[in-house]
Amino acid sequence: MNQNLEAMLQKVKDEIRDLKLDGQLEEIGYVISVGDGIAFLRGLQGVLSGELLKFNERTYGFAMNLEENQVGVVILGNAYVIKEGDPVYRTHHIVEIGVGDELLGRVVDALGRAIDGKGEIDCLETRPIEKLAPGVMTRQSVHQPLQTGIKIIDAMIPIGKGQRELIIGDRQTGKTSIALNTIINQKGKKVKCVYVAIGQKASSVAQFVEKLRQHDALDYTVIISSAANELAPMQYIAPYAGCSIAEYWMEKGEDTLIVYDDLSKHAVAYRTISLLLRRPSGREAYPGDVFYLHSRLLERSAKLNEHYGSGSMTALPIIETLSGDISAYIPTNVISITDGQLFLNQDAFNAGRRPAVDSGLSVSRVGSAAQTKAMKQVSSSLKLELATYHDLQAFAQFSSDVDEETMRVIEHGKRLSELMKQGTNAALPHALIVLSLFMNKYGYLDRLDVTQVLPFEAYLHQAFLNDYGALLEAIDGPGGLSDQLIESLKQSIDLVLADFLVLDNVK
Ligand code: ATP
Ligand code: MG
Repeated sequence: MNQNLEAMLQKVKDEIRDLKLDGQLEEIGYVISVGDGIAFLRGLQGVLSGELLKFNERTYGFAMNLEENQVGVVILGNAYVIKEGDPVYRTHHIVEIGVGDELLGRVVDALGRAIDGKGEIDCLETRPIEKLAPGVMTRQSVHQPLQTGIKIIDAMIPIGKGQRELIIGDRQTGKTSIALNTIINQKGKKVKCVYVAIGQKASSVAQFVEKLRQHDALDYTVIISSAANELAPMQYIAPYAGCSIAEYWMEKGEDTLIVYDDLSKHAVAYRTISLLLRRPSGREAYPGDVFYLHSRLLERSAKLNEHYGSGSMTALPIIETLSGDISAYIPTNVISITDGQLFLNQDAFNAGRRPAVDSGLSVSRVGSAAQTKAMKQVSSSLKLELATYHDLQAFAQFSSDVDEETMRVIEHGKRLSELMKQGTNAALPHALIVLSLFMNKYGYLDRLDVTQVLPFEAYLHQAFLNDYGALLEAIDGPGGLSDQLIESLKQSIDLVLADFLVLDNVK
């Protein structure tokens, strides 16, 4: 009996195999189960990993798990309309997104569809969202600065075009503000910007867009938003989509800046998908390939060499930490992928030292090659000065008699630390940052009270903008600060300082 059954089964299997379905089994599949934005399919024997699959006119998905008997598909869009037994068709494409200048000034979702109510976007070209990173022969080393307009960053942790600099810190420590400032500072510098919001509140994204608009920064920026209320698959593909948009410009020889805000939420979205697809989980329940998730994304940032158009893509990924723990799984991964990190310190932020960039823990491994000569001249000793100040200050708190030299270092450190403060939306041009640090290097800070430091800085900047335009131009020049320029700067600052002190006394 058993043998009979087996023989029959074999016969049926053979007949099915020999059926001429014109490749239908290859091309069409059927939903066997669906839920939480994930569907499992039968059929589709020829499907490729990552291929876009069509459920109906408005609903697509992409194949993520190719198993022996079934295909695991991540659904993009409205998953609720899909039912068990529905047919699914191959498209022979991987997920693509529209790219080009048409996107500038617009807010789109992870598939490039407009969500800002300003009408549809007709891009002339499309690109796959995943692509191999530029090879080593197409690249050149980082050598041009990408100015953030933030004193502490441009002076101490400079970023170069094509670099990947991680912004890492706890909740509400000013991470997004640094990215926002940097985008605003690219105005008139021919750098096209892409801001990818992953799992953010829709209201935060709207505020971000509004600030860009207020600062006329929308014209050269595109925002890709995959908000917290969207399904995990959309959050998962958003950074790759943004990267493809920036990559298009980079390959045309243009400079681009891309912000991924933030990759912690991206990793969580990927974890959700992986668990739903029943992939094995590892540390902190993330799947084993979570490193590859971010490495293949950040590898695509580059500075291309002249044979490939000299374009660049600078990346500012953001990672959120819990209680400053940078040794957790995702933070260590991304730290090791990037070329440096800006570490934001919660205590400093709460103490009012904003931006709260921790000068000790932050590094830029390649950016100093791109720093201007003038900036290098005035900022070389800053890290050490601040580090000594923090050490001595902690020490002096506990002892009553502090010698004069220690006192001097502490007093100077207080002023320097004050000088490093900067508000949001207060990006400064290169020459003014150099001027501020010049005050530090040549002892002007020590002639002021701590409370006078920022008012004097503002006064000095205004005076130079009004009366000493030629000196500012000279600072921006290629030669750095010559002896003669240093002398002229000193003379002018002396005059402005004298004015300021008189005015301040009158008050
Ligand atoms: P989240 O974790 O919620 O994403 P975040 O780390 O991105 O927060 P932001 O949203 O950039 O932080 O900033 C938090 C708050 O701190 C905002 O209200 C912002 O205006 C303020 N802030 C940030 N940087 C500065 C600064 N340099 N000076 C003054 N206020 C600042
Ligand atoms: Mg933020």
